[in-house]
Amino acid sequence: MALIPLEDARAHVLDRCGVVAPGAVPLAGALGRVSAEVVVAGETVPPFDNSAMDGFAVRAADTAGAPVVLDVVDTVAAGASPTRPVGPGQAVRIMTGAPLPEGADAVVMVERTVARDGGRSVQIEVPVTSGTATRRAGDDVAAGDVVVGAGTVLRPGHLGVLASVGTAEVSVFPAPRVGVLSTGDELADASAPLRPGQIRDSNRPTLCALVAQAGFVAVDLGSVADDEAALAEAFRTAASGCDAVVTSGGVSMGDFDLVKVVLDRLGDMRWMQVAIKPAKPFAFGLVGGTPVFGLPGNPVSSMVSFELLARPALRKMAGFPQAAWSRPVIVGVAGEALRRQPDGKVHFVRVVASVDDDGRHQVRSAGGQGSHQLSAMATANALAVLADGDGVEAGAPVPVLLLDVG
Ligand code: AMP
Ligand code: MG
Repeated sequence: MALIPLEDARAHVLDRCGVVAPGAVPLAGALGRVSAEVVVAGETVPPFDNSAMDGFAVRAADTAGAPVVLDVVDTVAAGASPTRPVGPGQAVRIMTGAPLPEGADAVVMVERTVARDGGRSVQIEVPVTSGTATRRAGDDVAAGDVVVGAGTVLRPGHLGVLASVGTAEVSVFPAPRVGVLSTGDELADASAPLRPGQIRDSNRPTLCALVAQAGFVAVDLGSVADDEAALAEAFRTAASGCDAVVTSGGVSMGDFDLVKVVLDRLGDMRWMQVAIKPAKPFAFGLVGGTPVFGLPGNPVSSMVSFELLARPALRKMAGFPQAAWSRPVIVGVAGEALRRQPDGKVHFVRVVASVDDDGRHQVRSAGGQGSHQLSAMATANALAVLADGDGVEAGAPVPVLLLDVG
């Protein structure tokens, strides 16, 4: 089977993954989700002119000859309403956030005042100009302003702005429910005894975590034996109960790679040999309309495959803007020679990237580069992207995909 460039495989997958239907959620459920609509402020923020300081609301003109003594005619706390206007020669004791009384156009901070006559009057020590220490209605948000654009990844500040304009619910793309299942007769869970010939199922916890880290709901569907009926049942259930399915194992050329046989019956799968290392075998198709990602079984391959092919598509499904589909790729510097042999594939080398004094990402191998050697993948925080050829010399620029970002 001919090798397919990674970009072509990714384009094939992205073309077939649509965005999940948006729905309204309370703000508490909106963090990290993507807004599906433009949100326009229905209210003005601040809703009224108010004090930016604890102090005294005054007529600025009265303070021109400071120090001056003014009569204190009222006290206004935050949440209260002024009962009297500020007339000439008068002041109102005011707290931060309290409405500015009529007549006042400035606030003198309490630190620049001295109480006189048991608090019935106040000596203003410094002159202030109109507007000092006041916050005008609408100087943050005016009614009708766009506070959140469509396609915004909602951060805590966005939720605050929405709350500030009285928006309690927002329409977002919900987190896709992504079913994760492992396949293979040899698999044992971490808690089970390890019988002869068995290995631990490390892909499922890893893939569930990658799904969760990307902002989706991971649905752990367990591991399934290399048995046609069991696989068919598992895939049917997974596809009908989830927005997408990620499976690992059984997509290679082995005699018991039955995932291939079964998925071909259930959906319109495309089996690919992607021109990358690790993670060459990859399958994708729709089963009853649900995207199914068939990742290779080798632990590093399954992670790299998820990063390069499944994650971008799932992020698209979750409404993320295109720039946020893939992890960022930056230009780093090889901290040591990263050698490889020409083989028609792009190599993704597990590396540790550390920022040097000049702000450049220096990358060094994270350890064993076998596709079964998960420990180096665990240590790595990046993948160095080595184009087909002999690799790069120490000190040479190298593209680096940052695994901890995005
Ligand atoms: P396969 O793609 O099924 O041929 O598996 C390729 C390699 O990955 C084999 O050595 C499998 O034992 C291993 N493997 C498959 N699934 C898992 C898994 N869930 N966890 C760890 N290793 C696995
Ligand atoms: Mg297998």
